[in-house]
Amino acid sequence: MLVPALSVLYMTAKVSTMVMTNIQQYFPNPTEERAFVAKTASTLATLGFNSENTLPVISVCRDEICSSFINAIETRWGKSFSLGGLAGLPFGGKMEMSVAHDHAPDIHDRKRLVIYGMVHIGFGPQGEVGGCVRPGMKELNRACGALIAYSGYTKEEDKELNKIFTDDGEYGLLIYRMEKAIKPGDNNLLEVTNAALEVIQQDIDRLTSKVIDPDETDYAVFTGTQIHLPDGNYVQAADSWVVMNSQRQDINFNS
Ligand SMILES: [Zn+2]
Repeated sequence: MLVPALSVLYMTAKVSTMVMTNIQQYFPNPTEERAFVAKTASTLATLGFNSENTLPVISVCRDEICSSFINAIETRWGKSFSLGGLAGLPFGGKMEMSVAHDHAPDIHDRKRLVIYGMVHIGFGPQGEVGGCVRPGMKELNRACGALIAYSGYTKEEDKELNKIFTDDGEYGLLIYRMEKAIKPGDNNLLEVTNAALEVIQQDIDRLTSKVIDPDETDYAVFTGTQIHLPDGNYVQAADSWVVMNSQRQDINFNS
C-alpha cells in the first residue's frame, strides 16, 4: 500500500490551538520569521541601517529547514555573510567575523553590520519536542540533529574525540564548546537548546568586541530561537542589542 508521507499530511495543516499553547510554555511569543525580520529591519531603519549601507551576517544551523530564514533576511537586507555552523554556533570565529567586517559597505558615513544568531528546534504535529516534519519524509524527523546528538552524547564517544575532530570536525567543536555550558548526555533537549542559545549570545558578543572597532562601525545583534512547526517557521526573540557610536543599547522585542 502506498503510504502518504507525513509531510504531505501535515505541511499545510495549522497547528492546533492546544499544541500552540503547549509550545508557548517554552516560547511565549513566537513570531512568523518574515514578520520577525521585518521588525528587526524597521527597528534598525530608525537608527540609520538600511540594505545599502549594511551587511547582514548570519549564524544559523546548516539544516536546510533554516534556509527560509536566511531567504527572509536576504530579501530584506541583500546577500548575507555566513558565520554559523552546526546548531547555529558561530564557528566561523574571529577570522570570519573579521572578514565579514571587512566586507561591510564603506562608502557611506560609517560601516554597518546586522548579525543574526539563532539556535533552532522543531515541534511535531502533536507538539512533540524536537519533532520535525520534512518534505517527502514518511516519518517525523528531528531538529536540531546536532543538539539531539549532544543530548545523548556518551563517555564512549568522548574516548573517540580525536577521531571526531578528524572526521567530524564541526561536531567536535560543538562538543568542546557546549561542554562549557551544559554537561552532555541524558539532557532535556529544551535545556540543551537554551544552553546553545546562551553560547551563541556569548560567542557573538565576544567576537564582535574583539574584531569590530566601534569608533568606525555600528552593528546590531539579534539572537533567538528558530522554531519549526508543521505550518511554518517562527522566531522567539531573545537578547538583542545595537552598538552605535561606541554606545551599546539593548533592544527588547518581547515587550
Ligand atoms: Zn541543526
